[in-house]
Amino acid sequence: MKKVLAYTIPVLLCLAVGAISSYIQTPALRSWYPTLAKSPLTPPDIVFPIVWTILYIMIGISIGRLIVVGDMSIVRLWIFQLLVNFLWSIGFFALRSPILGLITILILDVLVFAYTLSAFSSDKIAGWLFVPYMLWLLFATYLTGYVYLNNRPNTTLRAANVTNTTITMHHNHYDMPALPYPADALEPIISKEAIDYHYGKHLRGYVDNLNRLIVGTPYEGMAIDDVVKNTNGALFNNAAQVVNHDLFFNCMTPYMTEISPRLQRAIVRDFGSFEQFKKEFTAAATTLFGSGWVWLVEDKEGKLSIVTTPNADTPLLQELNPLLVLDVWEHAYYIDYRTSTTATAAPTLSVNGGILSIGKRWTRD
Ligand code: MN
Repeated sequence: MKKVLAYTIPVLLCLAVGAISSYIQTPALRSWYPTLAKSPLTPPDIVFPIVWTILYIMIGISIGRLIVVGDMSIVRLWIFQLLVNFLWSIGFFALRSPILGLITILILDVLVFAYTLSAFSSDKIAGWLFVPYMLWLLFATYLTGYVYLNNRPNTTLRAANVTNTTITMHHNHYDMPALPYPADALEPIISKEAIDYHYGKHLRGYVDNLNRLIVGTPYEGMAIDDVVKNTNGALFNNAAQVVNHDLFFNCMTPYMTEISPRLQRAIVRDFGSFEQFKKEFTAAATTLFGSGWVWLVEDKEGKLSIVTTPNADTPLLQELNPLLVLDVWEHAYYIDYRTSTTATAAPTLSVNGGILSIGKRWTRD
């Protein structure tokens, strides 16, 4: 009877720790953990509870054998490592702190190594039962270390500052920004005809006007972002429209792309969820009166928000870093939504998940 208890009590204790840990981890596993940048070697989520259950049974049997043999001196070390194992769950998941998780798991590595060595000296099988646990912990240490190193909030999303425009110049003339995909690449969501008009006619019009208006002004030869910041009236309108459109066309892609983990994390932090962000962005687009732009911007503190600007106005003037923009000028959608009302047509672009991705050059990690 005593022998049976020597095995079952530690095994049940381990499984209880496992159950409480996974209960504590649940909220973080749902909202926080998926947004972390993780090692490519990270196994699928389902692997963890299976592996842990097997390991807990093994390490429970290990101490059971030593209790039966009568080696009670090691029991304290065993309990201590189980406690630190539990603290690792609290630090990493409940407190959502990769650094606390890393420190705890390093302590756990040492304790488990000490236990394994000591177990081998009294009972070989008890020692071997701890080896898979030790190996798994080393792997978990690597995964935790990777998460810590790749998720430090040390830099903002700002990658391109406002001078990083793709618009080049030749002989003091601004070039037409390149369309980063063929004109029919966004079909059926945006037709080739709509792009031909929007890019080929409207944007070209702004570029041509800018090149015509700037001749003989003090701004001739300036980088386009400086023109935007230093002018007003027709010159400003045309220069800003060129910059806005350059970002807009770069915000779309024919391919489904992943949002960078850091941006995803910032969206969840500042909007609650990605779905909520989409909802608010769409609402901002549908309620924008007249012509203008809807932006996802980042302020100097790294906080994200949605702003709208009328006509050619741009958040660059408020020192905000634009991450995503939607053109809500009628010319952006009138071809594809000839029979719709403008209020419902415009944001159709934003609700089609894949087509509005975040322009690469603005969100590089
Ligand atoms: Mn436009």
